[in-house]
Amino acid sequence: GQCTLVCPVGALIETPHWHDVLHTLDSRRRVSVVQVAPATRVAISEEFGLKPGTVSTGRLINALRQLGFDYVFDTNFAADLTIMEEGSELLARVEAATRLPLFTSCCPGWVNWVELNRPDLLPNLSTTKSPQQMHGAIAKRSAFAQSLGPEFAEGRAEPYVVSVMPCTAKKDEAVRPGMAGDVDHVLTTRELARMIRSRGIAFGALSEDGQFDSPLGESTGAAQIFGASGGVMEAMVRTASHLKGTEDAPSLEWEVLRGVREGIKTATIPGIGTVAVCNGIAAAQRMLEEEEWRDDFVAIEVMACVGGCLGGGGEPKSMDPDILQKRAEAIYSIDAQAPRRRSYENEDVQALYASELAAPNSPAAEELLHTHYAARHSERSILMRFLDSVDRRDG
Ligand code: SF4
Repeated sequence: GQCTLVCPVGALIETPHWHDVLHTLDSRRRVSVVQVAPATRVAISEEFGLKPGTVSTGRLINALRQLGFDYVFDTNFAADLTIMEEGSELLARVEAATRLPLFTSCCPGWVNWVELNRPDLLPNLSTTKSPQQMHGAIAKRSAFAQSLGPEFAEGRAEPYVVSVMPCTAKKDEAVRPGMAGDVDHVLTTRELARMIRSRGIAFGALSEDGQFDSPLGESTGAAQIFGASGGVMEAMVRTASHLKGTEDAPSLEWEVLRGVREGIKTATIPGIGTVAVCNGIAAAQRMLEEEEWRDDFVAIEVMACVGGCLGGGGEPKSMDPDILQKRAEAIYSIDAQAPRRRSYENEDVQALYASELAAPNSPAAEELLHTHYAARHSERSILMRFLDSVDRRDG
């Protein structure tokens, strides 16, 4: 039936798509691709009674293959790509002293909020697409994807791209002007759990040995931490410091940017400037009430959900008061154990630049990996008029 769980930024109702996805997979008419977000591989464990904080990446991959996906990829590949583009964008803006501070743009809840409420901030939003949209664009429209397998090269049919996200707002992002069509369907973590159950797959009994397909499957620890508040900024700092030549070993882990409880976190990055993290839309609103943010920071991460995506509206509901903390610890432990922990070290990303995109922010990269925003005052006024009329009816 219709699900009415509401996105935390109040913009959207969750529309389930898992029946459509199963239908398309069963028809086997198109080569199918699925990408999985970092927050999902931890939270899905809870749906199947595993201990909160259990990392289920391999089980999840095996379940997706059993559901019939031809290729199972990691959204994290594109998170590394996002960092290459966004980190370079930040350094270019710092150098030119323009459109600062840069606001992150990978959270569609935040982007929607800016378009509706503060269009004066649109020039400050990073033009870099979110990992979900980058992954879709690469899978559908790059020559690189054609090296994946014979089905891609033969163009049997345009690949069918599904993403699994912790987020209801990602469904809306997938149909934004200028990006629509790159991702065909977005499933929340909860919807995927329903799909797995509907096929009678015993998730908890699956083996943890599943592996992502390559070359759109490799990722670093930096991409993994995207799922936690402060993670996008920490990942960007790691690569921007490298590009700037100020990288050193102690600056790999930015503890002060971590944590699911504080509203606003800041850190001063050698050679770059002071950066801030707003943990939840309310924290961002608080920051914007004063004018200091304009001069104090060079970059600001905003994630609409408290805790970041691991607290997203598409994640399993939990009664555990420490659930965000547990999920965050699981995510940082994946990063700590990753053989590569900085986005520029991702060899698939390096190969993509070498073969097709030349360099971050090049014309080819701009075409495939960047987007634009627009004020949506009119939608806001339509919404307000509607709410007014509802008020009057009820009164
Ligand atoms: Fe979606 Fe993550 Fe933004 Fe929440 S923080 S709205 S889950 S992208």
